[in-house]
Amino acid sequence: MSDQLAELEAAVLERAAKITTRADLEMLRTEVLGRKGGALSRAMSGLAKLPPAEKAEYGRRVNETKRAIEAALDAALARIEKTEIQGDLARTYDTTFPGNTPRSGGLHVLRQTLDDVVDFFRSRGFAVVLGPEVETEYYAFEAVNIPADHPARDNMDTFYLPNGSLLRPHTSSMQVRALKSNPPPIAILAPGRVYRRDALDASHSFMFHQIEGLHVDRGVNFGHLKGFAADLCRHLFGADRRTRFRPSYFQFTEPSAEVDVSCGVCAGRGCQTCKGTGWLEMGGSGMVHPNVLRASGYDPEGFSGWAFGLGTDRIAMLRHDIHDIRTFFENDPRFLEQFA
Ligand SMILES: [Zn+2]
Repeated sequence: MSDQLAELEAAVLERAAKITTRADLEMLRTEVLGRKGGALSRAMSGLAKLPPAEKAEYGRRVNETKRAIEAALDAALARIEKTEIQGDLARTYDTTFPGNTPRSGGLHVLRQTLDDVVDFFRSRGFAVVLGPEVETEYYAFEAVNIPADHPARDNMDTFYLPNGSLLRPHTSSMQVRALKSNPPPIAILAPGRVYRRDALDASHSFMFHQIEGLHVDRGVNFGHLKGFAADLCRHLFGADRRTRFRPSYFQFTEPSAEVDVSCGVCAGRGCQTCKGTGWLEMGGSGMVHPNVLRASGYDPEGFSGWAFGLGTDRIAMLRHDIHDIRTFFENDPRFLEQFA
């Protein structure tokens, strides 16, 4: 009986020394140490047939064999693991293998555009002010000279909240807020999100971004506005770009003007981008309406000012030749990474 145990032990040790995979090792472990039908279990079953005097000695021999086999199997496992780790290390430190470049983030193209506009205004002494996106009807409309029955409210219709306030339809709502809370002179820039009840398409969104510039002091005139707007266009689009003012109508400015910038694609000759006109719409502007000054507690006889409104999204679209406003908000990395 003891000879059989010695033979089993020798055979298992020899096989364990040659095993190279975890699967083969597990197979051998089950074959030898398995509770049901394992070689060692079968050897144990012979114990019952032995005379009592030999039982203790045989039991001790079985346990010794079991320990020797377990030690051999553990040693084989350690050897396999070591080989695996060495393989992993060899792969990881293959210096000829192409590296994984980490993906780094970047500022959104709208943020870059805004930062650029802010840089321009800041360098001329303007302060950046932020206002509430949930606005009262007073600051959104009445204070900027749009009474309740005025038709201009229709195309600025926005989202009303149950308490009568609304999501601001333009950053012009910051004009009176800023004028009321600061003594003159006022030189502010109010950027932010605005909301309109527009259906989503390539050029319309229910949410977009505006930047409102406002300068109020004694003796501010339309010439200041023209100089400022022309400078801003050159800053944003290039030194060779020209500006023009077209008479227009806004409730909160008088006189009012649309500001156009010469088309950069055709240099003003006329092309598809500018629809043959040579000019691209840039924003609205004008001299602050006396009623707005009065609503803010300013005497229109003593003070005057200009206001200038830009669409951040529109500026970004013009500068980067982007044709669909929706791409700004879809967060497709293929689009965003172009500007990162
Ligand atoms: Zn053009």
